[in-house]
Amino acid sequence: MRKGSIPENLNSVAERIVTACRSCDRQADAVTLLAVSKTRPAEDLRVAYAAGQRHFGENYLQEALDKQAELADCDIVWHFIGPLQSNKTREVAAHFDWMHTVERLKIARRLSEQRPAGMPLLNVCLQVNIDDEDSKSGVSVEKLPELAASVAALPNLALRGLMAIPAPRGVAEDQRTPFIRLARLLEDLKAQLPDQPLDTLSMGMSGDMEAAIFSGSTIVRIGTDIFGARK
Ligand SMILES: *Cc1c(COP(=O)(O)O)cnc(C)c1O
Repeated sequence: MRKGSIPENLNSVAERIVTACRSCDRQADAVTLLAVSKTRPAEDLRVAYAAGQRHFGENYLQEALDKQAELADCDIVWHFIGPLQSNKTREVAAHFDWMHTVERLKIARRLSEQRPAGMPLLNVCLQVNIDDEDSKSGVSVEKLPELAASVAALPNLALRGLMAIPAPRGVAEDQRTPFIRLARLLEDLKAQLPDQPLDTLSMGMSGDMEAAIFSGSTIVRIGTDIFGARK
């Protein structure tokens, strides 16, 4: 994609979302654009914010906390999308609205216990190792129902859905396969846990956003196509 300014890039990503939704008969507002701002300075987030962007995703806790302090005057919805060690759950529980990468019960328990009183429930997605890769984070497909049931029982979390980062695929058609699988897993969970607000599929990045939207994504996580290539 052509490298433009952050507002131009936001516009063209928004247009791609509209086009993708239209071509598969989905409402454009069914897909939330999450701007992935890891490694970007707070000024870049402020530019995106001024252009109307409200949802931002961060991977590294300390970096995120620094930017949150700099952007305290902005009405931002903060999503944590990186790997998280259990000794760092307290800050995520206190400073984020969403957590996309829950993959084990210990982390979920701590997030629930540490969610400050008076804050709304922390929205969580379970990260699934959808291609069963040795190197990848995420709960296995086999263990997902058990983890989901345990997380659903925690008082201060809202179990919203599933997240995945599939293995790269060369052919665009093939990109849909893992996303469709994740969408089916969400349907299974809805049947298993009818009382949970399971409405979220966090899937799709700059290189596979359209395939994810075709497959039912409700949150696309876009970094490069908004902010440019990372170093
Ligand atoms: C970096 C990152 C993204 C954004 O990837 P791009 O290819 O730059 O759009 C999305 N999701 C997660 C979990 C990431 O770490």
